[in-house]
Amino acid sequence: MNNPPTQTDAARRTRALESLLVEKGLLTTEIIDGVVQQYEQDVGPLNGAKVVARAWSDPAYKRRLLADGGAAIAELGFGDAHGSKIVVLENTPSVHHLVVCTLCSCYPWSVLGLPPSWYKSYAYRARVVREPRAVLREFDLELPAAVEIRVWDSNSDLRYMVLPERPANTADHSEEQLVALVTRDSMIGVAKIAAPAK
Ligand code: FE
Repeated sequence: MNNPPTQTDAARRTRALESLLVEKGLLTTEIIDGVVQQYEQDVGPLNGAKVVARAWSDPAYKRRLLADGGAAIAELGFGDAHGSKIVVLENTPSVHHLVVCTLCSCYPWSVLGLPPSWYKSYAYRARVVREPRAVLREFDLELPAAVEIRVWDSNSDLRYMVLPERPANTADHSEEQLVALVTRDSMIGVAKIAAPAK
């Protein structure tokens, strides 16, 4: 069996690489700290939640989002520094989309921030393709047998984001109130959004 490197090994390698790049004058520690801070504080699932709430509120935006995810996401000011393509997949009562990167941990950073550790785990990456229903059950999501599950494998050039179903009891919600309901996991496809209490 292939043992993944321990966190300590990875951290050690990262530190060594960082000091080498700084030593060679290719990077400064300020630039590195800035990038880390950007992904930890400025970029996160809130961006994706704004995209979802806009799509629920504005049918023309939703059409643009499903036709060209990257362009519609850029309309709200969120861009991908890596220039990779983003495809947005709409969950419906009959089709449920679920996102994974089987090879490593490709993830739509510009809308979801940094991936959760389970997304990067070998178990998730391997099992979600073979037994998506069992994996979803472990996320407390039991889908009816009639619902078709589609699993999408991200890569460095093409990343996926799920447009979750708009929950019930939200017809009178403002876009801002809708933003607050959207969860990170619903945009990966491992959760649905619960209807708020009436
Ligand atoms: Fe990857």
